[in-house]
Amino acid sequence: RALPGDPEQGPRRREVRGAAWSSVLPTPVTAPTLLAHWPEVADLLGLSPALVASADFAQVFAGNALLEGMQPWAANYGGHQFGHWAGQLGDGRAISLGEVLAADGRRWELQLKGAGPTPYSRGADGRAVLRSSIREFLCSEAMHYLGVPTTRALSLVGTGEDVVRDMFYDGHARPEPGAIVCRVAPSFLRFGSFELPASRGEEALLQQMVDACIARDFPGLQGSGESLHGDWFMQVCVRTAEMVAHWMRVGFVHGVMNTDNMSVLGLTIDYGPYGWLEDFDPGWTPNTTDAQGRRYRFGTQPQVAYWNLTRFAQALAPLFGDVQPLQAGLDAYQATLGACVRRDAAAKLGLSAASDDDLQLHQRWQQLMEQGGMDMTLAYRALMTLDPQAPDRGVLDHVFYDDARAAAVHEPLVAWLDDYAARVRADPQRPDTRQAGMARANPLYVLRNWLAQEAIDRAEQGDLGGVLALQQVLRDPYTERAGLAHYAGKRPAWADHKAGCSMLSCSS
Ligand code: AMP
Ligand code: MG
Ligand code: MG
Repeated sequence: RALPGDPEQGPRRREVRGAAWSSVLPTPVTAPTLLAHWPEVADLLGLSPALVASADFAQVFAGNALLEGMQPWAANYGGHQFGHWAGQLGDGRAISLGEVLAADGRRWELQLKGAGPTPYSRGADGRAVLRSSIREFLCSEAMHYLGVPTTRALSLVGTGEDVVRDMFYDGHARPEPGAIVCRVAPSFLRFGSFELPASRGEEALLQQMVDACIARDFPGLQGSGESLHGDWFMQVCVRTAEMVAHWMRVGFVHGVMNTDNMSVLGLTIDYGPYGWLEDFDPGWTPNTTDAQGRRYRFGTQPQVAYWNLTRFAQALAPLFGDVQPLQAGLDAYQATLGACVRRDAAAKLGLSAASDDDLQLHQRWQQLMEQGGMDMTLAYRALMTLDPQAPDRGVLDHVFYDDARAAAVHEPLVAWLDDYAARVRADPQRPDTRQAGMARANPLYVLRNWLAQEAIDRAEQGDLGGVLALQQVLRDPYTERAGLAHYAGKRPAWADHKAGCSMLSCSS
């Protein structure tokens, strides 16, 4: 069914009390074009290649038409942004079309991002630019193939309309092409979905949402009442710890870990100003909005996730007579994170298990990567090639960005490599098992900010070849393949300076 044209200003922006969502229709666009899609996600949803290739597909995933049964809505939620309660936020530019019940029984919510205003759009237009849409489209699936829990991406549709955002040229805002991504997840519920009713004293709604979330998304949990709610909170804490540990393992910086961007399912959600570490720097954040506070840097992610969970716990407190189950969940976060960090340190260094001494060995390595300014991705992969019988500092020659910094860590690095080689020699694993394990823990191809930018620059000229090429590369991030050296390269000099390439703001 085709949707009507733009009703001038779209829906009335408003405070929505006592409700978790609002009915809303996408606003049609002038010239929908399917720019790219992930066939494996279409397959997951049972959408046939013929449907994807049809004109109907672009119409539906541009928000110009609905398929039978679709009843779109925008979700209501609040959030703590940059450490402060921000009140009602809600889906200002995301519109859910409905849920697909797949043949395997899994349930998937389909959500358009950039499909026009909703009651939650506040002063903004509900649209998204091609640049940020490509970033979300690619990174969602890149993360999936890295083994990081994440929302998925189905389609990238061009709207044929311009959107004005924060890219400036000669002091003037530059219009950019608009686009819409369809993202896919079992649920997009966030910590902020529960914080909002709690903040308003809407306890019945809070209770209803908790029970609905458990019934739909946590069917494995048994029991009732406070013990069920406590088990559920603990599950959220455990999944959040696992997600953040994965981010630390692969060098991902989310960039805007506000509680409205924290999934209750422990999925990476809301790909905005994210970035990937290149030269290893725990203090780095890609988010220009956060440049002062540097709250959302790589190294602070585990603490910020904990802080966010404490805000979530506070929201749930009215459902508990005693805070003990909530404290138990928070403790489970710390325990899970610790176990994951230990597991990942062992895997990344190629050890069968990591003792406390091994964790220290790993910390020394991280300090050397930081002081020497080594490329994180390449440095771990280089360790795979080290001969433990004759450790050679030369295997790391290509991972530095700066000769002077490389020279400054030369001696401690040689000493560390000797210690590491001795530890590897003492490990019971066979060399081929160790190398295979390291290859599974240390990706070679990640969505470096400048790689995304190259694909974006081409796409803005109408050439989708760069996006398609990255899709191919990122599907298999752990296996080195011929002809892909460019995608496993260090950041080129142009990317150090180009605005918009490594630093981004929140909501483009
Ligand atoms: P974010 O920083 O991306 O998590 O966004 C924070 C809030 O701003 C959310 O409520 C978004 O829905 C809203 N928002 C961001 N960009 C837009 C936009 N272009 N139009 C309407 N709402 C937006
Ligand atoms: Mg958000
Ligand atoms: Mg966003």
